[in-house]
Amino acid sequence: MNAVTAPVILLLATRNAHKVGEIRAILGGGFRCLTLDDFPGAPEVVEDASTFAGNATKKAVELARWISSSPLTPHAPRITPADFVLADDSGLEVDALAGAPGVHSARFAALDASTPGNSHDVGNNAKLLRLLAEVPLEKRTARFRCVLALTPGISESVANASPVCYADEFEMQTQLFEGACAGHIQFAPGGKGGFGYDPLFVPDGFAQSFAELGEDVKNRLSHRGKALEGLKRYFASTLRCGR
Ligand code: IMP
Repeated sequence: MNAVTAPVILLLATRNAHKVGEIRAILGGGFRCLTLDDFPGAPEVVEDASTFAGNATKKAVELARWISSSPLTPHAPRITPADFVLADDSGLEVDALAGAPGVHSARFAALDASTPGNSHDVGNNAKLLRLLAEVPLEKRTARFRCVLALTPGISESVANASPVCYADEFEMQTQLFEGACAGHIQFAPGGKGGFGYDPLFVPDGFAQSFAELGEDVKNRLSHRGKALEGLKRYFASTLRCGR
């Protein structure tokens, strides 16, 4: 993308400030990221799909559907048919736990108590270390996965469709971008950077956790970084073809 191209406007469908920070840093210039802070009335999406792709699609589609059907919110930025909603669903898969916590990464500790809502990172990490207490280093392999769902903020055809058609229309126009980062789970948390399971996750080829390696290194290697590279390539090619 060159300097004279207008920035692509993305509304990030997440309330996770860490994800927003990483997405902004990785995308850099050429994109303007709005957040749900700009749309205080946006609905909470129940993440009950069994895959990252299912949850990412649900988050992007439900938000796009809400934007299309809501009256304009005073002071909120206007979303146009040229803009997009972008959702990130991500998590950690640990081989010794048959892929858990997976899609339940955000509420891993809370699953035991069946309490609603997400768990604190400290509780999730403590549970992970407890479950892996007897697992030797060579069997502590794991990977982070990220699926991004990109859907038009408002589609021209949706603007004229009946509300029951919105979801299908948005789903059909949704594109997915995926990234994974392999590594292992260390025996004790280390580092103060990042969020979530970063203090426990050591990427392949490194001896320190994501939380110790710092933002720049993490963003170059991470599942989110790789998925966003796919998104950038997509926009670079669609803008070349005259979006
Ligand atoms: P989501 O908001 O439903 O996608 O949940 C994502 C959860 O997965 C987070 O709350 C973290 O627990 C975990 N997670 C996702 N990406 C990362 C990451 O980059 N570092 C550490 N933990 C992550």
